[in-house]
Amino acid sequence: IAKTEGRARYQVFDASMHDRAVRRLQLENDLRRAISGDELRLFYQPIVSLITGKITGFEALLRWQHPQKGWVYPGEFIPLAEETGLILPMDLWVLRESCRQLKQWQIQYPNYRYLTINVNLSGQQFSQPNLLEKIDIILAETGLDAEHLKLEITEAFLINKPEEASATLKLLKKRQIKLAIDDFGTGYCGLNYLHRFPLDTLKIDRSFVSKLGVEREVSIIVEAIVSLAHNLGMEVVAEGIETKEQQAQLQAMQCEYGQGYLLSKPLDKEAAQLLIASSSL
Ligand code: C2E
Ligand code: MG
Ligand code: MG
Ligand code: MG
Repeated sequence: IAKTEGRARYQVFDASMHDRAVRRLQLENDLRRAISGDELRLFYQPIVSLITGKITGFEALLRWQHPQKGWVYPGEFIPLAEETGLILPMDLWVLRESCRQLKQWQIQYPNYRYLTINVNLSGQQFSQPNLLEKIDIILAETGLDAEHLKLEITEAFLINKPEEASATLKLLKKRQIKLAIDDFGTGYCGLNYLHRFPLDTLKIDRSFVSKLGVEREVSIIVEAIVSLAHNLGMEVVAEGIETKEQQAQLQAMQCEYGQGYLLSKPLDKEAAQLLIASSSL
């Protein structure tokens, strides 16, 4: 009896493992097709000055227009993309498309030549030995000036490989490319760590912004982060501003830039272009 039970249990386990493996393989295949085909799209979320209300640039956010499933968001495919290494070609596609699009807007709307484009790069991408060459090629191909490109880096990469990170970031800075640390406060990047890297911008994670005015200590922490970043010569962007109260608190703390649904949701390229074309910038 024990033997039969054992085998039955084994088979159930096996079947569900099998299902999962098949689904994963399917997603992986779909993802490959998405990259080589024409299923990846960029949305652009404005980054706004909390002082003047003007848009300073956009963050490019990846979306997958799946032929059957419809819109798929990064949370659903970035983890698998990272596991399989597909993140490398995917991020390069994002980089090229972002640079191309911003350059096109700069030509079309010369009054807004100052706009910048923020691009998220996975830690894996930063560890690629030929990253600099690839970026050089993309900038040359698209004609975008390096100072209008801002790369967003995760805390994890800075902490796990501080020496490597610092060397790569220095080379990027030499080319005038701007650098931002993304989702600050969610990892373990101590405030005392920041000065080791040549960062231009610190982005305060949404989890802090959403607790402003809810948890008193959070206001104290955010204020400390803003002032430390300023003392280190960095600009600060608050992510995920959803209410006027959050915006007002951040303004009172001298946080100079914001991003979030209150200011604008991520826009498809037509909507982003309409925003640039309208006088509201
Ligand atoms: P992130 O870089 O921190 O991007 C901000 C995320 O917050 C975006 O989610 C954006 O849509 C969302 N967001 C913005 N404002 C608000 C708000 O007011 N409220 C709320 N609830 N959410 C807001 P999204 O587009 O789903 O992207 C999630 C993450 O996926 C990004 O977080 C980024 O880490 C990653 N990601 C997106 N595009 C790329 C890419 O091209 N390459 C890589 N490697 N990662 C990417
Ligand atoms: Mg980001
Ligand atoms: Mg972020
Ligand atoms: Mg975030």
